[in-house]
Amino acid sequence: MQYVLVAINLPVRNLFKQFIYRVPEDFPALTAGWRVLVPFGSRKTEGFVVRVYTEAEARRRMARDGAKVGLGDVKDLAAVVGSAPWFDEEMLATARWLAHYYMCTEAEAMRLFIPGKGSLRRRRVYEGGKVVAEALEERLKPRTVLAYVLTEAGQAALADTAGQARLQSRHKALAFLREKAPEAVTVKEAEAGGIHAEMLRTLARLGWAEKTEKRVLRNSYDRPRERKETLRLTAEQQQAVDAIRASLHQGAAEEYLLRGITGSGKTEVYLRAADEAVRENRQVLVLVPEIALTTQIVQRFQAWFGDAVAVAHSKLSQNERGDVWDRTRSGTARILIGVRSAVFAPFENLGLVILDEEQESSYKQEERPSYHAREVARCRCRQRGAVLLLGSATPSLDSYYLARTGAMRELRLTERPSGAVLPDVVLVDMREELAQKNFSVLSRRLRQEVVETVRKGEQAIILLNRRGFSTFVLCRDCGTALVCPHCAVSLVYHAKEQVMRCHYCGREEPVPLVCPHCGSRRIKFFGSGTQKAEAALQELPGVRVLRMDQDSTSGKMAHEEIIRRFRDGEANVLLGTQMVAKGHDIKNVTLVGILTADSSLNLPDFRASEGAFDLLTQTAGRAGRGSLPGRVILQTYDPDNEVIRLAARQDYEHFASRELQQRKALHYPPYSRILKLTAVDKEEAKARQLGEEAAAFLRQGKERDGWKETSVTGPFPAGVAKVRDLYRFTVIVRSGDMERVKEALWHSPYRDRKELYFDVDPLRTT
Ligand code: ADP
Ligand code: ZN
Ligand code: ZN
Repeated sequence: MQYVLVAINLPVRNLFKQFIYRVPEDFPALTAGWRVLVPFGSRKTEGFVVRVYTEAEARRRMARDGAKVGLGDVKDLAAVVGSAPWFDEEMLATARWLAHYYMCTEAEAMRLFIPGKGSLRRRRVYEGGKVVAEALEERLKPRTVLAYVLTEAGQAALADTAGQARLQSRHKALAFLREKAPEAVTVKEAEAGGIHAEMLRTLARLGWAEKTEKRVLRNSYDRPRERKETLRLTAEQQQAVDAIRASLHQGAAEEYLLRGITGSGKTEVYLRAADEAVRENRQVLVLVPEIALTTQIVQRFQAWFGDAVAVAHSKLSQNERGDVWDRTRSGTARILIGVRSAVFAPFENLGLVILDEEQESSYKQEERPSYHAREVARCRCRQRGAVLLLGSATPSLDSYYLARTGAMRELRLTERPSGAVLPDVVLVDMREELAQKNFSVLSRRLRQEVVETVRKGEQAIILLNRRGFSTFVLCRDCGTALVCPHCAVSLVYHAKEQVMRCHYCGREEPVPLVCPHCGSRRIKFFGSGTQKAEAALQELPGVRVLRMDQDSTSGKMAHEEIIRRFRDGEANVLLGTQMVAKGHDIKNVTLVGILTADSSLNLPDFRASEGAFDLLTQTAGRAGRGSLPGRVILQTYDPDNEVIRLAARQDYEHFASRELQQRKALHYPPYSRILKLTAVDKEEAKARQLGEEAAAFLRQGKERDGWKETSVTGPFPAGVAKVRDLYRFTVIVRSGDMERVKEALWHSPYRDRKELYFDVDPLRTT
């Protein structure tokens, strides 16, 4: 008799308990990784088999769990889903790692691997009391289309019509159907073979063909392809490809960081590396940030690999995603290009994972389980003996640190193969503009450059940079922002209480009336919105503005559509938030304007400089990608700021060393690790209370167990303090002993509190 331990797939975040079920005699032999249907409470629910037990093992397990009932009281499985386990060994191991690392239940981790969250309907499972061992009603309905298949009469007619000139087209259609039989032929396939839909209908009317349905795999990226072009690789590109090829050949789980300036041909390296993997008969997963999917990368892969490429973006329907997963699992798709969640796709034989723009924050899921796709990919690659390739012009300091310390191998691309030079960057001091009585968001220099650019028939990109939500205070005369002297992050303005507060150490200061540095009264509260930019641009002669921000890009392909319209010259100025900064390659763009370089720099977060440097570099990298030289106008109130200066020079290395030094001095990651706890409640006092209890628990733990280099701060109202009527308070733990911190929480009552969220390695600490 077989027993199984099942993790219940319910959207309940604190269901850590797993349950034992008996496997009925007439079921197939099960292994871990099967999806099953189990009686749970008053209904039937999906679950995942996480362990298989013999009778003796099951009895021991129940004794260990202190169960009050015996083995005889254990319920039977209701059904199994599918005809094979959904999870293979590697997926199971990855799910287990994920649950442990990110502190969630195994079921929560396993759900991530299933396309569409609650993917089974919970009704009509029993038929006449009999177990339905297969073909459960899954909500994932395969899509079918009308198709035709040859009948026996048609078979006979094939001979009759042969050689009859009048019936030649019928004969041709019959021959086509026979050639494909027993497969049915869709209208589309017939038309590709020169047979009209009308002719198929005629055959059906004559009884020579029969209508049926044929399953098709959806591919919403079915669109015209660019021709495959083969470039001669530069020496640096060749070196990178050679190194990756060697690792692929050995089946070594090697990790590479491909660091190449914008426009240095990283994508070309991805293509060649993918080609090598495919030649080794392995599959390739290409992860791209949400917004980059709509750019040329998909086209370039399709031009190279044709139908072997599958694409998974976040707007796929559940059904479409199910089809894509079928293609990767069966191996018909050799390459999968997708956003964050594609890291959970099943593969027949994964050999290479590429993360483009690996520093992008969209790789991190903020809701629980708050996984980072890079880390999940890393785990899968290690299990599989697959190569991990991270690419970026401005790597995350976490990855750069790994490369520096030898944990990853660094590959460098230092020049643009097209011969294009990096753009000139001009810093414009906005204090000077004020002094000259220019109160516009556009400096005189930027206005002049925009007018000049469009007059020449070239294009400009203007970055609004309305990033973040918090308000900081900046002196318009000396450009200084208010910063906590202990934590080196901007103080946050709290309007209600009228204080400036450090979200790291809790230090509070009164709201200044004059600048503490220079005594000026011209203090400006920066926060959202430089909305006036559009109007200001529109006043300029010859300017046609296209705007791209969160609101205007909600449609399925809206972002791509806007880029296409801009590329086609419908407008000559593209205005937007950081979305305009990334990924695309428009040769006619010769000017990039950044309205306030300061606003991303002054987020109350230790990663603010890193984010700002990345954004400024990426944006600047949009200019001058063709044969025309590019120019960047960077407006700032703080032109002496070193991060801005280094970004203007695109000097990543210098920036990174400086930043790492500071992080080391202040015990920030990668020299420590951070855990963010968020307490959530409809009542403000309760949320705060839970935050306080958890913080107190952790402070005691630190005292009692002597956790190294550990600090606990908070609770503070979260950066977005109230979401959907729920109050949120955060507690930040910074520790050199994080595994022990997590362990203590795991064995505490806080693990099961569903009003408390854990975010391990959070990207944002507010
Ligand atoms: P990145 O991804 O590093 O920003 P891309 O791969 O998009 O850069 O390459 C930038 C441009 O350089 C593209 O137009 C690409 O076709 C071109 N390019 C890449 N490699 C080569 C090469 N070896 N020779 C000539 N042009 C190249
Ligand atoms: Zn000042
Ligand atoms: Zn502080």
